[in-house]
Amino acid sequence: MNKKPFVTKEQIEEIAKTYPTPFHLYDEKGIRENAKRVKEAFSWNPGFREYFAIKATPNPFLVDILREYGCGCDCSSETELMLCDAIGAKGEEIMFSSNDTPEEEYALAAKLGAIINLDDITHIDFVEQILGKLPETMSCRYNPGGVFTLSNGIMDNPGDSKYGMTTEQIFEAYRILKSKGVKRFGIHAFLASNTVTNEYYPQLAKQLFELAVKLEKETGADIAFINLSGGVGIPYRPDQEPNDILAIGEGVRKVYEEVLVPAGMGDIAIYTEMGRFMMGPYGALVTKAVHEKHIYKEYIGVDACAANLMRPAMYGAYHHITVLGKENAPCDHIYDVAGSLCENNDKFAIDRNLPKIDMGDYLFIHDAGAHGFSMGYNYNGRLRSAEILLQEDGTAKLIRRAETPKDYFATFDCFDFYKNLKFEK
Ligand SMILES: *Cc1c(COP(=O)(O)O)cnc(C)c1O
Repeated sequence: MNKKPFVTKEQIEEIAKTYPTPFHLYDEKGIRENAKRVKEAFSWNPGFREYFAIKATPNPFLVDILREYGCGCDCSSETELMLCDAIGAKGEEIMFSSNDTPEEEYALAAKLGAIINLDDITHIDFVEQILGKLPETMSCRYNPGGVFTLSNGIMDNPGDSKYGMTTEQIFEAYRILKSKGVKRFGIHAFLASNTVTNEYYPQLAKQLFELAVKLEKETGADIAFINLSGGVGIPYRPDQEPNDILAIGEGVRKVYEEVLVPAGMGDIAIYTEMGRFMMGPYGALVTKAVHEKHIYKEYIGVDACAANLMRPAMYGAYHHITVLGKENAPCDHIYDVAGSLCENNDKFAIDRNLPKIDMGDYLFIHDAGAHGFSMGYNYNGRLRSAEILLQEDGTAKLIRRAETPKDYFATFDCFDFYKNLKFEK
């Protein structure tokens, strides 16, 4: 089985004349088609909004595309809030779903009019002290504990996760918030990550809808929205069946009709905070084979490294690789595809069946559009790559330049040492 790159070898050769590899490349057409499908999947719910999880791909050009489809922004840090502010997102277009949150970030979120989603009951007093008065709309993050199961088994382990409030606490939090003047309430939960099944959102929604009915009944709080957060996954492996967002939207609609409508709560808005599903498949890391090494195993050295895409090193995550121009060649070689970090886990693939790779071949590392560039780091003094948008008309547009040594050393610019650095080549 195979995965088809959204770009050809000839296109990459053309782009690489202007922008040397490695770079992250994004597929505008794919992003737009998917965003349209998400909107359609939840069009039955008039208040629906997808708040794109900024941490997945914090690039203003890409977020702006999503905003054309009505998406808001989900933030959890100061710089993410700043990005949203700078592209003109404001008020309830911003969801602030943070945890372990510093004081000044709550202040900024409130200043921008973002919806604040509290991760913990102790943050009620914390936020009140910072702001003086709580906003009229507030959300609470829920953690039911235990394990989260779907028909094919255990999906994740909320009982082990640091996020959210217990069942008892969320009832208590609602009472306290109400007594402090909060008028509109939200519920949020993120119980399983990268789920590749159409069951996750409907199952989560059922659990949250039932909670909402009880919460409203017992506390009298007016619940305005339920936020299903992220966790809708993508098929990183070529043999996985992709999620069908239309089926997922329909599944959520069914439980909405079953649970909320009969309780007289048929005006609740559904929110999502997808990151991976919105962007993951529509971005790739493009890198060039620069070395081959024959020792106890066969290695291909590429010009990208884990600093550009950390998921394989961090989680042992699988990312499919296509050797551009050799899409139909037999995969009759077995390689480790490695970067240059002085860390043996800096491998994009281990024992991977691939076509014979020649030096200068371009490798297309799939599904790097979310949690790819954004997880990048500077270990070994490696620099972050450029980000490029493959526009609908087939032309390439730079949407973030590559880092230079000047960027890397910038935090020494207040010291004498900085003057000794020789930046010109
Ligand atoms: C990471 C995160 C998301 C996005 O998760 P995906 O798996 O990328 O969809 C959404 N909401 C919160 C609070 C998150 O931390």
